[in-house]
Amino acid sequence: DTIGQNLDRAVAAWPDREALVDVPSGARWTYAEFGAAVERLARALMGAGVERGDRVGIWAVNCAEWVLVQYASARVGAIMVNINPAYRSHELSYVLKQAGIGLLVATQTHKSSDYRAMVEQVRQDCPDLRRVVYVADGSWDELLAAADSVTPAQLAAREAGLTCDDPVNIQYTSGTTGFPKGATLSHHNILNNGYWVGRTIGYSEQDRICVPVPFYHCFGMVMGNLAATSHGACVVIPAPSFDPVATLHAVERERCTSLYGVPTMFIAELNLADFATYDLSSLRTGIMAGSPCPVEVMKRVVAEMHMEQVSICYGMTETSPVSTQTRRDDDLERRTATVGRVLPHIEVKVVDPATGVTLPRGSSGELCTRGYSVMLGYWREPERTADVIDSGRWMHTGDLAVMRDDGYVRIVGRIKDMIIRGGENIYPREIEEFLYAHPKIADVQVVGVPDERYGEVPLACVILHEGVEGLTLDELHTFCAGRLAHYKVPAALQVLDTFPMTVSGKVRKVELRERFGN
Ligand code: ATP
Ligand code: MG
Repeated sequence: DTIGQNLDRAVAAWPDREALVDVPSGARWTYAEFGAAVERLARALMGAGVERGDRVGIWAVNCAEWVLVQYASARVGAIMVNINPAYRSHELSYVLKQAGIGLLVATQTHKSSDYRAMVEQVRQDCPDLRRVVYVADGSWDELLAAADSVTPAQLAAREAGLTCDDPVNIQYTSGTTGFPKGATLSHHNILNNGYWVGRTIGYSEQDRICVPVPFYHCFGMVMGNLAATSHGACVVIPAPSFDPVATLHAVERERCTSLYGVPTMFIAELNLADFATYDLSSLRTGIMAGSPCPVEVMKRVVAEMHMEQVSICYGMTETSPVSTQTRRDDDLERRTATVGRVLPHIEVKVVDPATGVTLPRGSSGELCTRGYSVMLGYWREPERTADVIDSGRWMHTGDLAVMRDDGYVRIVGRIKDMIIRGGENIYPREIEEFLYAHPKIADVQVVGVPDERYGEVPLACVILHEGVEGLTLDELHTFCAGRLAHYKVPAALQVLDTFPMTVSGKVRKVELRERFGN
């Protein structure tokens, strides 16, 4: 199927079920209503001159229009480009040019109201950019009015010419380890992934998914929106950008059955002073993905948020995104020690990063994945594509992993984050897990910093629990003494109020390394 055909099926199967609820604006659509709104916008895009293969940019926080643009641009065969709402003019201009965006839909961005000024400022340097539509003003209605110039038959004719292997989306990676790369994905790539992630969770038209993660990232738009339409579930938007209070309110009021987040979001929700007052009893499942989940957090998510069936997903933007996932009946051990096992129709292997030779189960090496989910390539960057996808179509993830005997995959860390101290390999995750148990520490990130004697040593960056006075390196060393191998004990300590984050909610270790490298 194409994404348009998939939506048609949903509309036919569940016309009266709710498809989308946007809590901030109060908008609600059934599948029939949502399908009609998408059809209208698709005709409007055609009326505005959008051709098959044209790039349509969306630079917006989470809102109903985001989702409409996602489906409508797919319907007309355009390639939607997700632009990070946290971008500023410099990055915005880079993406507009790099992707050759012809039509941009923009609305109030992350914590900023000067988005319009930014668009107008960069506009002159972007020759491809023909039209900008601001959702918040009359230009959105003007765009919609163009729908009248295109008949449903003309839209149907356009759709009949599309194939599921057409590119439908350029998604930039999170930029956790460097500058984001634009992964070009087809209908086939992301629609199948949304379907299988949803099927593994067991979604049906009874489910209501609270999506506080950004749509601009695959977590929101594939594992949220496409999983929902594939199984008749409803997407609930709690807020334009992540807000722990709004998220729990939305779960309670909309009786959500599923809640998404990266671990840091769940930590923020669990740490709310009034956490215990929310009625979260409607929850049964959810997805935690994007970065490793501390055991203590997982225990609380299961026990205190009632998410007994919570699913851990592992993947990357370049693979649509999910490659491995835990199953509904997996126990706590599998949900915390592993990222599940491979999804149907995808292959995984663990190779020696130096030689490329496949390693036996139990040994750690670079994880590679192959299957329908591997992207078409990085947009207009064939060399970078060739660096990560080999001639056998295997995607080299840059992640270190172990395949266990039971087929479950354990992520050891990123190759780029590994600390090499005097020839000894140290995985930050292991030290982080250990330090989470410290009574004063609320959150912790360990990075390697240069050291004259050992080449590199571990630095612990910590956020302390509210009300805690301070933490010294001596205290930390006392805590580690006799329990953590001496070479893993952090050589230095930084107490911080916050960590530098990507909009997808991941800590930018690269920035911590830069900031505290000396
Ligand atoms: P960039 O490639 O720009 O540096 P990024 O890799 O963070 O950024 P994404 O594609 O959003 O961009 O994230 C994919 C990465 O996230 C994976 O390669 C892996 O390192 C990490 N990841 C994803 N899911 C998990 C998980 N469940 N547990 C641990 N790490 C995960
Ligand atoms: Mg990456």
